[in-house]
Amino acid sequence: MTRHAEDLIAIETRLGAHNYKPIDVVLERGSGVWVWDVEGRRYLDCLSAYSAVNQGHCHPKIREAMIAQSERLTLTSRAFRNDQLPLFYEEIAALTGSHTVLPMNSGAEAVETAIKAVRKWGYEVKGVPDGTAEIIVARENFHGRTLGVVGFSTDPDARGGFGPFAPGFVAVPFGDADALEAAIGPSTVGVLLEPIQGEAGTIIPPPGYFQRVRALCTAHAITLVLDEIQTGLGRTGRLFAEEHEGIEADVTLVGKALSGGFYPVSAVLSNKEVLGVLKPGQHGSTFGGNPLACAIARAALKVLVEEGMIENADAMGARMKAGLAGIRSNLVKDVRGRGLMLAVELHPEVGGARRVCEALRERGVLAKDTHEHTIRLAPPLVISEAEVDLAVEALADALRACA
Ligand SMILES: *Cc1c(COP(=O)(O)O)cnc(C)c1O
Repeated sequence: MTRHAEDLIAIETRLGAHNYKPIDVVLERGSGVWVWDVEGRRYLDCLSAYSAVNQGHCHPKIREAMIAQSERLTLTSRAFRNDQLPLFYEEIAALTGSHTVLPMNSGAEAVETAIKAVRKWGYEVKGVPDGTAEIIVARENFHGRTLGVVGFSTDPDARGGFGPFAPGFVAVPFGDADALEAAIGPSTVGVLLEPIQGEAGTIIPPPGYFQRVRALCTAHAITLVLDEIQTGLGRTGRLFAEEHEGIEADVTLVGKALSGGFYPVSAVLSNKEVLGVLKPGQHGSTFGGNPLACAIARAALKVLVEEGMIENADAMGARMKAGLAGIRSNLVKDVRGRGLMLAVELHPEVGGARRVCEALRERGVLAKDTHEHTIRLAPPLVISEAEVDLAVEALADALRACA
């Protein structure tokens, strides 16, 4: 490592809060699936900023839209209208089949927005007694880092020391429809789930789980909210991961790749009924729905569809999964995932997914460990066959080196 990278890391260590433990690679440039560090070394990005750069780094058409809009108008606040927001609504509604859209910025804000709307819907439409609304969530969930959201996390790191928390959440095991059914009470207004639990280690629920969850929500007049912030927008080889389950959520949350990584843009997509309860003054955001965000999101959605990225995720995901499954290593316990949302779980006794990720980095591939034993692999959806093979070979080699 040259002084340059070392110096930058030292400044970060000295002045920054230590709420992350990044792999020590200092990146300065990106294009498609590739990123370069300050020493000019090239890496294949297999994290995609936790699926925020599905469209690939610095996609030229999104960049063009961002530059053009930044020269015209960036922010009006919602006190006035702007000419980009309606077009964003029209395009995302057409693409996703949603009836009402509420734009926010970060993913966690979209989650908070949905919780507020679902609670209000519970009181005003379902008729639950005021102040009693309950939302069922899954254990090991990840929905962001705000106080409201970490209050219903079951991860001790995420919630420890941050209480007291808002009441009104019940956590049940993910993938267990009986447990979910047992948790339903007269004041249950919503069920909030990730279609595939990303941060928990790419956990796919058993077949039929979501069908039953959907049926239970319908039978008990409960709003089903799916957090597709990570699974959505092509990541699993479908526009939304719910399509693999053959169900439709009442409320869908999107973020991350909604901007292709250029800018924080998130949205709550809903039927008329749930978002319909929000009246002027009851919810908002200074930056939510700003013209710059809308222009970027419009371009990010356009290239996702026009350039066949969703289909490519399906095809390349299948290739990568087969490649990973073919790796002969007694360190590997399981290979799983859908589309390009993949994970390799190591046997706990060999441990150290972090060690493998460091070895991968030395071989020119960036991936991130999660929950100690799992390596997640989620490259940009624009990845080619040759690049998939390269990533698989690098992992096979890294595992050999760590054996
Ligand atoms: C990343 C993520 C969030 C939070 O998004 P931020 O933009 O980091 O606030 C919420 N839910 C899921 C499933 C995520 O992966």
